[in-house]
Amino acid sequence: MTTYKLALIPGDGIGVDVTDAAMQVMGAAASRFGFALESENFPWSCAYYLEHGTMMPEDGIETLRGFDAIYLGAVGWPATVPDSVSLHGLLLPIRKAFNQYANIRPHRLLPGVEGPLKAEGFDILCIRENTEGEYSGAGGRVHEGKDNEVAVETSVFTRAGVERILRFGFEQARARRGHLTSVTKSNAQKYSMVFWNEVTRELAAEYPDVTVSHMHIDAMAAKMVMAPQDLDVVVASNLFGDILTDLGAAIQGGLGFAASANINPDRSAPSMFEPVHGSAPDIAGKNIANPIAAIWSGAQMLEHLGEAEASAAVLSAIEAATAKGIGIRPGLNTTDEITAAVIAALEA
Ligand code: NAD
Repeated sequence: MTTYKLALIPGDGIGVDVTDAAMQVMGAAASRFGFALESENFPWSCAYYLEHGTMMPEDGIETLRGFDAIYLGAVGWPATVPDSVSLHGLLLPIRKAFNQYANIRPHRLLPGVEGPLKAEGFDILCIRENTEGEYSGAGGRVHEGKDNEVAVETSVFTRAGVERILRFGFEQARARRGHLTSVTKSNAQKYSMVFWNEVTRELAAEYPDVTVSHMHIDAMAAKMVMAPQDLDVVVASNLFGDILTDLGAAIQGGLGFAASANINPDRSAPSMFEPVHGSAPDIAGKNIANPIAAIWSGAQMLEHLGEAEASAAVLSAIEAATAKGIGIRPGLNTTDEITAAVIAALEA
């Protein structure tokens, strides 16, 4: 029997609840499809930071390297640890160290879920660049606290980084409905984003079967509200992708439905799977977090591990649960009830 080694980082707040829910469903899928999941829990979180002064141990990255995949709940507890510390101390280092350059975020309406726009037919795949761009961490501050203080944060776009994420997007578009929308702000950002457009055009010549649209981020935000059904694959930089995918999540009914995978496409290091949402301190510990985003992220993990049939079955089980009205609106069901409904559908 094939055994997959998983590193679990539940993190903070609802991250803990939804990781537990996702692992229950993954365990049920493993039993049904004849493989095993062996998981090790890592308590790296804001609570860990308060005790140790770091978000993870010095050898944390090397520890994770030996696993087949990493599953993360959510990290952040702004009441005690600044978000910039928790993000730059754990998530971003993992994404960068393991070259998880493709952040894949599917957004579509599940059966029974209307979303605020009732955008029937809404089904997009956002590909967010995940290792450089606006989140490269290049910058600094001088004269802190003085009148002449200066803060500089530089976006970094490399040819290798831009080309590989766009190529990934073209491949995904080819496997879907054949349309790619590249999102920039090339009217205002005349170096990095003009460069991004040039690389898009160069690659487009290699993919004559894919139609390409270029959109500015502001127009794209409007388009996602006015005509989201017209979009297929969307490729964007780290910051723009981050923002657009919260909009995508809202259109699909809320952050509780938005899954994400941080993929290292060449498989030279583990990939990481996590819901888009954060630790939601406002609902933490209340057993009301929607675990569907986390379970869907687990399905992405199974697909990446090569268990395509199990992955598809988990997605079908999510759809069967929402089609019955389970978890389709906040407050309707508890985390436990939604998890149990998905497991029941998976085992039916
Ligand atoms: P958030 O995603 O945690 O919450 C935003 C809103 O959505 C809240 O009202 C919350 O209750 C709701 N929500 C989120 N997930 C939900 C779910 N599964 N079911 C039902 N409702 C849900 O974003 P935030 O409040 O901006 O951030 C809280 C903390 O999480 C911060 O520390 C932030 O840095 C961190 N964060 C972490 C990640 C991550 O680990 N990948 C992502 C985003 C934010």
